[in-house]
Amino acid sequence: MANLSDYKNIWVFIESEHGKVKNVGYELLSVARKLADEKKCGLIAVVLGKNVEKAAKDAICYGADSAILVDSDEYEEFSTDAYAAALTELVEKYKPEAFMIGATHNGRDVGPRVACRLQTGLTADCTDISIDEDTGVIVWTRPTFGGNLMANIMCPDHRPQMGTVRPGVFKKNPYDESRTGEIIKEEIHFAKDKIRTRLIDRVEEIAGGVALDEAEIIVSGGRGVGSAENFAIIEELAKVLGGVVGCSRAVVDAGWMPQVHQVGQSGKTVAPKLYFAIGISGAIQHLAGISASDTVIAINKDPDAPIFSVADYGIVGNLNEIVPELTKAFAARKN
Ligand code: FAD
Repeated sequence: MANLSDYKNIWVFIESEHGKVKNVGYELLSVARKLADEKKCGLIAVVLGKNVEKAAKDAICYGADSAILVDSDEYEEFSTDAYAAALTELVEKYKPEAFMIGATHNGRDVGPRVACRLQTGLTADCTDISIDEDTGVIVWTRPTFGGNLMANIMCPDHRPQMGTVRPGVFKKNPYDESRTGEIIKEEIHFAKDKIRTRLIDRVEEIAGGVALDEAEIIVSGGRGVGSAENFAIIEELAKVLGGVVGCSRAVVDAGWMPQVHQVGQSGKTVAPKLYFAIGISGAIQHLAGISASDTVIAINKDPDAPIFSVADYGIVGNLNEIVPELTKAFAARKN
C-alpha cells in the first residue's frame, strides 16, 4: 500500500489533439480549483501534446497554480501506449493526491490504463466531485442502475485517487489573464516503434456538423415529434436560431435520427445557454445530460410531463402548432 502522506496536490489532464485543446480539461479546472482551495493544496494542469505550451499558460489562466508540460512529436496524435507511459511516469515522479481526466474517447482509454499501472482506483463518468469532510478523501459521484441512483465512490487506501468526468458537466471559470504560475517542462520520450497502434486515416464526423457538446443553442426533439419526416420542424427552428439539433434516445431507437444527436446518459452531456426539449417527457436518463444547461424551454402537450419540473419556461400544447409559430416569430425578428 502507498504511503499516502507522500501524495499531494490535485492534477487535471488537459487533453489536446493537433494542438487544439478539448474544453473538458479547462472545465475540470473549475471544480478542481474549489477542491484544491478546500484542501489547501496545489492545483496542477498536466499538458501533453505537440505545440501545446499555450495550453499550459491557458490552464493557469483558467485556475491552475502551475502546469507540467510534455511537448514532443510522439504526442501529436493520441496513442494509448505513449500517453499511458508518460502520464504514469509523471505520477510516479510527482505523486499527486488526485488526478482528474475528461471522459472523452481518449480519456476513457488512457485513464483506466494509468490507474491499473499505478494499482489505484478510477471512478468513470462522474457527474460530481467533492471532498468527504471526515477523511478529506475525494468523493466521486456517478449515476448507477440506469441512472436511477447516484453512487458516491471513494478510494481511501490508494493514490492517486482517479476519475473521469464527462465534457459539459462543469462550467469553465472565466479566463483570468492576470494569473501567473510556473510551467515545468518535462522531457519524456517513447520509442515510436513501441507504439502498438498506428493512425492510418482520420475521418471527420460528418453527421450534419453535430457538435452538441460545444453548442450554445440546442433544439432537441423527442418521440412526441412523431416521425423522421416531422423532424424537419425541429431542424427549421434550430436553423433560424443558429443552433444544433439534438434528440432523445427514443428517437434514435425509432431510427428517426442518428445516434450522434442523442442527448442524455448514454448520449452526449451538453451545456448550452439555451436548450429546447420538444416532445420529450423528461426521463431521468435524458435529464442527466442537460443539467448544466443555462435555460431549458420545454414544449409538451402533457402538463404533468416531468420535463416541466426542470424547465425554466414551459409551453403546454401541441408541438406541431407551436414549433412552426416559434420558427416564424424568430425568423421575423432576424429580418
Ligand atoms: P416519451 O417518454 O415517449 O415522451 C414523449 C413526450 O412527447 C411525452 O411527454 C408526450 O406528452 C409528448 N408529446 C407527444 N405528442 C406531442 C405533441 N404533439 N405535442 C407536444 N408534446 C407531445 N433517453 C435519452 O433521451 N437519452 C439517453 O441518453 C438515454 N439513456 C438511457 C440509458 C439507459 C440505461 C436507459 C434504461 C434508458 C435511457 N434513455 C435515454 C431512455 C429514457 O429512459 C426514455 O425512454 C427516453 O428519454 C424517452 O424519450 P422521449 O422523452 O422522447 O419519449
